[in-house]
Amino acid sequence: MIIGVPKEIKNHEYRVGMTPSAVRELVGHGHRVVVETQAGAGIGFSDDDYARAGASIAGTAAEVFGQGQLIVKVKEPQAGERAMLTPDHTLFTYLHLAPDRAQTDDLIASGATCIAYETVTDDHGHLPLLAPMSEVAGRMSVQAGAHCLEKSLGGRGVLLGGVPGVSPARVTVIGGGVVGQNALAMAVGLGADVTVLDRNMEVLRSLDRQYGNRIRTLFSTADALEQAVTEADLVIGAVLIPGASAPKLVTRDMLRAMPDGSVLVDVAIDQGGCVETSRATTHDNPTFVEEGVVHYCVANMPGAVARTSTLALNNVTLPYIVALADQGTAQALRNDAHLRRGLNVCRGQVGYREVAEAHGYDA
Ligand code: NAD
Repeated sequence: MIIGVPKEIKNHEYRVGMTPSAVRELVGHGHRVVVETQAGAGIGFSDDDYARAGASIAGTAAEVFGQGQLIVKVKEPQAGERAMLTPDHTLFTYLHLAPDRAQTDDLIASGATCIAYETVTDDHGHLPLLAPMSEVAGRMSVQAGAHCLEKSLGGRGVLLGGVPGVSPARVTVIGGGVVGQNALAMAVGLGADVTVLDRNMEVLRSLDRQYGNRIRTLFSTADALEQAVTEADLVIGAVLIPGASAPKLVTRDMLRAMPDGSVLVDVAIDQGGCVETSRATTHDNPTFVEEGVVHYCVANMPGAVARTSTLALNNVTLPYIVALADQGTAQALRNDAHLRRGLNVCRGQVGYREVAEAHGYDA
């Protein structure tokens, strides 16, 4: 099969669908990979790196779409890319179609087979192609929060780990899922005084087994939240209710009770945020202050560490890319029910119930 890897064209997107290592694996399986020139330049993968891995370098996206049968990307295709898709293409990338009617209609019109990373499942009912981005965002949330606590950025001037003779900062993590666990690991590693809240007792039991008395676990009630938030130097919002907007768990009144210069990192902002005062920000202008609390609410945190994110994403997408290329799209989908869950649009039809419902189509 011929696999095409275009350069991402969304503003400030430096990730790339395949690393040179991934290309080498596919070439080793007897496939041809066409990579657009400069596709990985922003994160240190040169055209020479790709060529050494066995790729052919194309001068334009049109050549990649013209030759490639399986198109591997990161972000949803932009209008110009959608116009290049045909019924002979399989597209494998993040799509997020439910809130995006224009993209859904273009993909239907293209006749292409479109598999979305975010709806591929695993045996545990998890979303394995979303997990690495949650791992990245969770780890980054502590790094971003620690930075924002510095005085020059509007913070209280508190060091997360303290020093001998001075107490560490108090960190409250709301939600102990993938983001929360990764935030927790970093905060504990830096020596902070950490509290985690969740409504799932199994999550709290498992964290208690892992960390013992190095952290505090709390069942997430309004009372517990209020106390843990108002006492914290850094609050990390990491809740998710699958398929729904994030619940507004932290109120303006709670923030008002926090010391000035405290920091809130609302990772759940991509689902609307779990704090009453949150609004999405960008990497160019990541913070704002409300009620004296520094808010960091960047909706695409992994984009800031595009190299790590690309490597993490490729680790989980590679087995599926190999299966699609080795078996062909139709057979790979027949063989793997979890990959089939990723099928969002296929030959002019919406193939995913939630997307069909969102836009009033038959699935
Ligand atoms: P997850 O499903 O692994 O974990 C969510 C946790 O929230 C679960 O353990 C759940 O029990 C808990 N929860 C639900 N309601 C709660 C409540 N009322 N109080 C306390 N805990 C509650 O999800 P995840 O992968 O960790 O993702 C968390 C959020 O981060 C999601 O909104 C996701 O979209 C977002 N995210 C954002 C970025 C970004 O760049 N901003 C990147 C990745 C993920």
